Amino acid sequence: MAIKFGAAGNSDSFYEQGNKSSLKMPAWLAEMGLTAYEYQCSRGVRIKEDFARRLGEEARANNITLSIHAPYYINLSTEDPQIKEKTKGHILKSLRAALWMGATTVVLHPGGTGKDREASYRRAKSTLAEVLKEAAEEGLGHIKVAPETMGKVNQMGSLDEILDLCTVADNVVPCVDFGHLHAVTQGSLTDKESFAGVLDKISAVLGEQALKNLHIHFSPIEFTKGGEKKHRTTLETDFGPHFTPLAELIIERNMEPVIICESSGRQAEDALVYKRIYDEIKRKR
Ligand SMILES: [Zn+2]
Repeated sequence: MAIKFGAAGNSDSFYEQGNKSSLKMPAWLAEMGLTAYEYQCSRGVRIKEDFARRLGEEARANNITLSIHAPYYINLSTEDPQIKEKTKGHILKSLRAALWMGATTVVLHPGGTGKDREASYRRAKSTLAEVLKEAAEEGLGHIKVAPETMGKVNQMGSLDEILDLCTVADNVVPCVDFGHLHAVTQGSLTDKESFAGVLDKISAVLGEQALKNLHIHFSPIEFTKGGEKKHRTTLETDFGPHFTPLAELIIERNMEPVIICESSGRQAEDALVYKRIYDEIKRKR
């Protein structure tokens, strides 16, 4: 495995150039020099088996590593038995789609924090364990499930919560969204030291291998007191976090992460901006 850079969903320019189907995305990304694609099922897993298999073939032909973003409706911490069943269904459907297309990882948002964050967290953890057991029984246990660090204060998914969720089963890994971490901590990721603090924590809890193969989301972000407001782009230079300090650490620590860019409308273009920053630092060393 080598470091990979790619896009979350399809850039505006992909459609502006007349493309309609995501089946064209792997070749389009490869043409740009990118090597990863996070297929968005954020509004529901509606992808058909035949389409998913063809997307997988396209990805393999173009050397693109695939992941899936599971639906936003997932709420592992819910007390409502119906929402809990639906949540499990969304996760299982996402994993089946991942199996069809050969995606390595399913990223998900854990859910809400309710009135009692502790109790909500405990429910989230046990529901995740439940659904992963069912997934394993269905032959889906080899696909990685990646709960994501969230950008809003009142969302489940602080770095500590995410790292602890990763202890539920061997196939649970963290999706570390540095834009979200920056937003939820009121802009703390300003220098190498602050990024290093995040990486140190990951390796302390989950070990060196988990850090090495980290699934990363990165994009500039606007935030308020409550955390995340809006994903921005690298053209809007007022918005952090900036990629350079993380790129330096990735090189120094021999990490081989998958870095998915979620910039608004420019996800592929900004993934390339990040790749060039990384390549340039590497070249100079
Ligand atoms: Zn996400």
